[in-house]
Amino acid sequence: MIIAYFIAILLLLWFIYPLFQGNMDKIIAVEGESDNLEYLKKRVYTNIKELEFDFSMGRLSDEDFNRIRQKFTSEASRVLRRIDLLNQKNYSKMIEADLKQLSSKKKGHFCPQCGEENPTHAKFCVACGGKF
Ligand SMILES: [Zn+2]
Repeated sequence: MIIAYFIAILLLLWFIYPLFQGNMDKIIAVEGESDNLEYLKKRVYTNIKELEFDFSMGRLSDEDFNRIRQKFTSEASRVLRRIDLLNQKNYSKMIEADLKQLSSKKKGHFCPQCGEENPTHAKFCVACGGKF
């Protein structure tokens, strides 16, 4: 019974290990990684549920249960951290895209005095009346 859990952990490590190797950008570039991580997360949660079930059936000692559950939980938090990192990466991409859009919009349309947006060919600011 316990051996089965260790095999499960080994399999899990084998799946997760490449995610922690090498340069992060390279990893993040891997297409569908977020799907993969969601899959891993579900897998770990399933393992924990099954472990709890076996424990409730009296198939495991307290000590084994706690030890294995601890391992699964730390695997789960590793996967969650990866998901988090991936999301952060996506946010920073969004921010960069937003900033790019803003600075391209800014060319000549904003008042140098008050910053108000003005029509492209305006000679005076619509807000403060300042001359362009
Ligand atoms: Zn102005």
